[in-house]
Amino acid sequence: MVDLRSPISELSRVGKTTSRLLKKLGLETVQDLLFYFPFRYEDFTAAKSIADLKAGTSAQVVGTIELLQNRRSVKRKMYVTEALIADDSGEILKVIWFNQPYLTRTLKGGDKISLAGRVNDNYGQLTMLSPQYEKIYALGLIHTHGLVPNYHLTADLTQKQIRFLIKQVMPSAARTTDWLPAEIRRRLGLLPLAAALNKIHFPQNRKEIFAAEQRLGFAELFLRQLKSQLIRRELKSRQAPVIKFREEETRKFVAALPFKLTPAQKKAAWEILLDLEKPAPMNRLLAGDVASGKTIVAALGLLNTALNKKLAVFMAPTGILARQHYDSLKALFAPYGLKIKLLTGAHKPEKLNEADIIVGTHALIASPLKLKNLALAIVDEQQHFGVNQRQKLAELTADLSKGPHFLSLSATPIPRSLALAIYGDLDLSLIKQPPPGRRPVITKIVTESRRQAAYDFIREQIRAGRQAFVLCPLIDASDKLGVKSVKQEHEKLDREIFPDLKVGLIHGRLKSADKDKIIAAFARGQTQILVATSLVEAGLDMPNASLMLIEGAERFGLAQLHQLRGRVGRSHYQSYCFLFPSAEEITNLKTIARLEAMTKYNDGFALAKIDLKLRGAGELYGTLQSGFPELRILSLFDYELIKKAQSEAADLIAADPNLERFPLLKAKLGEWDKTAHLE
Ligand code: ADP
Ligand code: MG
Repeated sequence: MVDLRSPISELSRVGKTTSRLLKKLGLETVQDLLFYFPFRYEDFTAAKSIADLKAGTSAQVVGTIELLQNRRSVKRKMYVTEALIADDSGEILKVIWFNQPYLTRTLKGGDKISLAGRVNDNYGQLTMLSPQYEKIYALGLIHTHGLVPNYHLTADLTQKQIRFLIKQVMPSAARTTDWLPAEIRRRLGLLPLAAALNKIHFPQNRKEIFAAEQRLGFAELFLRQLKSQLIRRELKSRQAPVIKFREEETRKFVAALPFKLTPAQKKAAWEILLDLEKPAPMNRLLAGDVASGKTIVAALGLLNTALNKKLAVFMAPTGILARQHYDSLKALFAPYGLKIKLLTGAHKPEKLNEADIIVGTHALIASPLKLKNLALAIVDEQQHFGVNQRQKLAELTADLSKGPHFLSLSATPIPRSLALAIYGDLDLSLIKQPPPGRRPVITKIVTESRRQAAYDFIREQIRAGRQAFVLCPLIDASDKLGVKSVKQEHEKLDREIFPDLKVGLIHGRLKSADKDKIIAAFARGQTQILVATSLVEAGLDMPNASLMLIEGAERFGLAQLHQLRGRVGRSHYQSYCFLFPSAEEITNLKTIARLEAMTKYNDGFALAKIDLKLRGAGELYGTLQSGFPELRILSLFDYELIKKAQSEAADLIAADPNLERFPLLKAKLGEWDKTAHLE
């Protein structure tokens, strides 16, 4: 048996190329494979004898190859492989594969074979067209028998390969340490870890999948709850600087805004400002769907902190967003003479301790800063950060026993009950209503034949003074930042489609100063169209943009599409989102159903739920990537399970706050800390 940490390359039949492909999926060790869960299962539980087959149904059959031959269909310009399969029932099944001439090399007459696919009646002869097939070896069937796991893969890796590898390492599941306290496991009737791993990959039936998901899902929720409650406990024991509400200045500031705060914004601001006056640290989540106006609420906290002569930090997930916040805060606070500094990977100012407000990116927590006088830490787009990173931000303070107050902003619009359950350590302020006068973004799926019409529409909108984003997906996994596709698209739009307009281009490979320039040019209206990768997904506010075109739209999860769409519709202008599926996806009913959900719903939470239903639980990680990065398995909408995790965590901490009786759990929590983040 191999070690859990053994590299995959030491397994049999894994060459250099395969290793490299696996690495792209983050799979390097035996353990990684064990924890790479399937996102769905194909159901081949109904093995039938050939005599019982009926045309128009899907079935699995085990038989012997009686005859196998290739021929070329001249008319249709393709290879056709035909086989006759017999089983004990004495009947014959015909099988046809197209364009797989190599089959006659991998299979031969006399081989025992398992087939799964759809049965048709071909002039009285039962026929399977292009079925899944698998030669029967001693190992047992793993590709066409029972419930067959499907994994997310990059191009060039096959389901068969990964299934084979996982099957190979399955015995090592017995070597994993189960850190979940046995008493909890027994009380809740959850599987031991090794059993859950076995069943999540190679289940005998649906019940086993459910049991495995419950166990693995509970484990994740339980860890999260433990972490939350430990943080809450720790914070309660701390003190925080009292930030007096500066009523007069605050009123003046609000009165000078170009808009009136909505009641929801006022209420949220009020909750925050009250918290800041308390001598215990605030720990609050400000949640509101995209464009609901969270920034200005956070700004009121920043302003009051600064007016109290204390330091506030504001962290955003991307450099361009940090820069935007920095610029707009500077403008907003100009009358108050506040010192605002920007700290990003590319921009490291001196004398941070002299600032009133520091706006920054991950760079804030990457450097060993110790900030004197830190009183308020705010994280924007918290869904892009892990629990641990948020904690690190709070720990920038030079004096841990005193503060700081902590505020998270999130665009994941989740119901209060669920938020409380998931973010157990946080108090919650919700902005449910967008500012008045906003119109829902009109969303349409656009097929190739209507592409020109869509471009004409864009031109019209731009003539009327609006601007457009054109989003491109990654072409393949090797193109991690999407640079390839975004460059091609830019060239096409710039040279062929809109030669008369200014078309900008932004992607992750550019230098940070260049990115800022490009965003600034777009913000000033110097470019009318911005071709971009999902780099612009987080938080950017371009009120004048009213068009969002998304190429290869099927490659994005619904939650992500919703965030991208949230880049428009941020003012009173009617905005539009055009989803372009890749040509080959137009006939994929599932794809179209997902994209149609975008045209029907403007509510991020509804969309997240739909995505879960349509794509299956395992996809959740990607789907809700921008929602709940730490959760890999279903569990998110399972209130019962969340409740259980919450109460078990509370009981355990009450009885043993330092987890002394549970060293394995303690170690796991430390390890999870390190990995719980997105980027
Ligand atoms: P998000 O909640 O997505 O962070 P922002 O804070 O960026 O949203 O606000 C989106 C846009 O709405 C900004 O241009 C902001 O100036 C504007 N805005 C915020 N509050 C109001 C309001 N009460 N009335 C009108 N516009 C507002
Ligand atoms: Mg925002």
